[in-house]
Amino acid sequence: MEVIEKVFPNTSEITSLGKLEIGGCDVQNLAQKYGTPFYIFDSEHIENVCDTYNTEFISRYQNTQVVYGSKAFANKSIFKIILDKGLGADVVSGGELTLAILCGINPEKIYFHGNNKTEIELKLAQEAGLSKIVVDSFHELELLNSLSQNNYVIQDILIRLSPAIELDERTHKYTTTGILDSKFGFAIDNGDAEKAINLIESMNNLNLIGIHFHLGSPIFSIVPYVLGIKKVIEFLSQFKNLKLKEFSPGGGFAVPYTIEDKTPSVKEYAEAICNTLNESLDFFNMPKPKLIIEPGRAIIGPAGVAIYSVGAIKNIENVRKYISVDGGMGDNIRPALYGAKYEAVVINRLWDERPKEKVTIVGRYCESGDILIKDILLPEIKSGDIIAIPVSGAYSTSMASNYNMIPRPVIISVKDGMDSIIRKRESLSDLFKMDV
Ligand SMILES: *Cc1c(COP(=O)(O)O)cnc(C)c1O
Repeated sequence: MEVIEKVFPNTSEITSLGKLEIGGCDVQNLAQKYGTPFYIFDSEHIENVCDTYNTEFISRYQNTQVVYGSKAFANKSIFKIILDKGLGADVVSGGELTLAILCGINPEKIYFHGNNKTEIELKLAQEAGLSKIVVDSFHELELLNSLSQNNYVIQDILIRLSPAIELDERTHKYTTTGILDSKFGFAIDNGDAEKAINLIESMNNLNLIGIHFHLGSPIFSIVPYVLGIKKVIEFLSQFKNLKLKEFSPGGGFAVPYTIEDKTPSVKEYAEAICNTLNESLDFFNMPKPKLIIEPGRAIIGPAGVAIYSVGAIKNIENVRKYISVDGGMGDNIRPALYGAKYEAVVINRLWDERPKEKVTIVGRYCESGDILIKDILLPEIKSGDIIAIPVSGAYSTSMASNYNMIPRPVIISVKDGMDSIIRKRESLSDLFKMDV
């Protein structure tokens, strides 16, 4: 089946009995065991993608550190795989930072991003011994310098630049971050970046060791990376005192969500980034810094599959057939927030070769915008059927909410025929326990 081959995790297969297996586990059996909705993560798939990123980048630019963009899905069991594969962690809050440290990620490999880190978070980062705080604003420069002064330390930092690289219309404007009109980073074009670098030089307690930019996500072409690296390296070449030890063109690597999506391969991204960086540095006679690559979505997105049960079915003749499932925007807000597109399969009807009908899969939350998939062709669906939505691993469970007071789903991982819970299903008492 094309969908299974193209957008399901690596280990997915349809058995001779027409059953979907992931990581050697029968998904229908898992639905029986755990109840729906739930999310499955294919551990082997995550491991393979980590290996691919390591290999493709390090073979072209030896001094590379791959760092997991953990806001895509921060979880103890996932961090364990990240740690085993030698990746670092890119964190954006005190919560993600603390979890990464708890899970044993070396503070030297933790990159702390964010456009408005709080004073408490910056203190936490300094206490944890982070040397890779990625400063995003003049406010943060002043704050971190004065905190460092109080602690008698000289804090290593990177700064985030905004190189004004536009992305094409396939990237939603909500997830475009490297343009002039963005809350993130010091813009090159209006002089802020230059001002920031000169300011840091005059500050006694900050030491600029690297430069970062992140253009957005997902980026469906290699071109923005090429343009961004060229522009930033050319900009940096004028600062003769700057000892650039680290250079990070961010993450944002796209993955196919549907069988029509065309995305560059990891090899293509790696070739474009490593070649452009090498050429630009050589052109300006600059030494070679460590290259930091920050994939989040690309590592965890395709490894995750959401599993739902079908409940109500409402057919409005000549208008639309609504298929309601037992999850929705509470566990995956991406379709509602970004118009994200997904595929789906009815896992108990994989054998069904009859003509398909066009349906719209909606969630159970009290919003008309709670649509998971608009207009998809599927076999005739009955209540009780089980639907699997692939490439659900990134920015779904990590953005999950308790809207409508609905507990968030259980998350399990599978490998070699074994399944285990990596995050428990919330109970009703979990929902109420913070109320006073
Ligand atoms: C979100 C983010 C990433 C990861 O982005 P993906 O699209 O998930 O690869 C990397 N770097 C920074 C600074 C980010 O904010």
